[in-house]
Amino acid sequence: MKALVWHGTTDIRCDSVPDPEIEQPRDAIIKVTSCAICGSDLHLYNHFMPGMKSGDIMGHETMGEVVEVGSEAKGKLKVGDRVVIPFTIICGECEQCKRGNFSVCERTNRNGHIAAKAFGHTTAGLFGYTHLTGGYAGGQAEYLRVPFADATHIKVPNGIPDEKLLFLSDIFPTGWQAAVQCDIQPTDTVAIWGCGPVGQMTIRSAILLGAKQVIAIDRIPERLAMAGAGGAITINIDEDSVIERLNELTNGKGPEKCIDAVGMEAHATATIDSMYDRVKQATMMETDRPHVLREMAYVCRPAGTLSIPGVYGGLLDKIPFGAIMNKGLTIRTGQTHVNRWSDDLLRRIEKGQIDPSFVITHTVSLDEGPDMYKVFRDKQDGCIKVVIKP
Ligand SMILES: [Zn+2]
Ligand SMILES: [Zn+2]
Repeated sequence: MKALVWHGTTDIRCDSVPDPEIEQPRDAIIKVTSCAICGSDLHLYNHFMPGMKSGDIMGHETMGEVVEVGSEAKGKLKVGDRVVIPFTIICGECEQCKRGNFSVCERTNRNGHIAAKAFGHTTAGLFGYTHLTGGYAGGQAEYLRVPFADATHIKVPNGIPDEKLLFLSDIFPTGWQAAVQCDIQPTDTVAIWGCGPVGQMTIRSAILLGAKQVIAIDRIPERLAMAGAGGAITINIDEDSVIERLNELTNGKGPEKCIDAVGMEAHATATIDSMYDRVKQATMMETDRPHVLREMAYVCRPAGTLSIPGVYGGLLDKIPFGAIMNKGLTIRTGQTHVNRWSDDLLRRIEKGQIDPSFVITHTVSLDEGPDMYKVFRDKQDGCIKVVIKP
């Protein structure tokens, strides 16, 4: 089959590789009908995240049709079922899965001992996302082996196009969880840093959840235009001071809820602290750039919440913890517990409350995938979200 394969920094190729096969009784094989490139794939493309090996298949936003089912997954899945595959692999049986904390499933990361060295405890296995999260093949391919497939799937009905359903795999529940974690009240101003695909889903989620005003912060005009079309007030960081504008929009009090949908590759702006991060990151003294986190901690209204769906990998320094503690801020973080939200979100798509396909700007074949990584990273051609049709 064809698949997008990682060979090194900024070197992803469309290769011919062996078809996946059932390896464990709980596996299933799906024929991929649609997959997508995620912003966090760029962390692998740019090699900010360690743990990739040459030959690894990329991709963790995938849906398709079940073509083969292992003996122990047969009660839950059958050939012909249409499924979206959550990016987090879940066993459905451990203590964390039983509590709905799926992204910290205790059993699915087969390299959990390595994750535990980095984080203190293991986290769930992920598709196509380094050997720290299990080294599982990803779904930017014609076929995908789904481990723990009896639990790791979202069944979706026929009659709704892939484009509306595919993002149940990651960015829609990720944006939703980021907004839900803010416990949004009808009087709240919610400020969202980053208008990439996750930021766009967060904006729409915060509006669906009834925020008084939602403010979107970015520097790319087409992303800001998309945010505005979704109902957000926009701030272009190249034109305005973020903190001044946020204070203007909140009578000097600051937003109650601040969401970092940027993560470790935050744009290095001309501010002193981000230059400092850039130097430290370039010299490997610091792995992540927390400029957005700092800005959020300072501007957030006392007793407010900082929600962080953006991906961080390692250590941060110069975090204004005094501001966080003295202002009584709540920090909520986490990889997405996809299956915790998927029933509700599927119903909202079916009812027409939201159509997540608004975010798609490019649809290409697998052969065009390697070029699209570059186009997406460099935000060329108005690119916000790429869907691949194998
Ligand atoms: Zn993702
Ligand atoms: Zn589990």
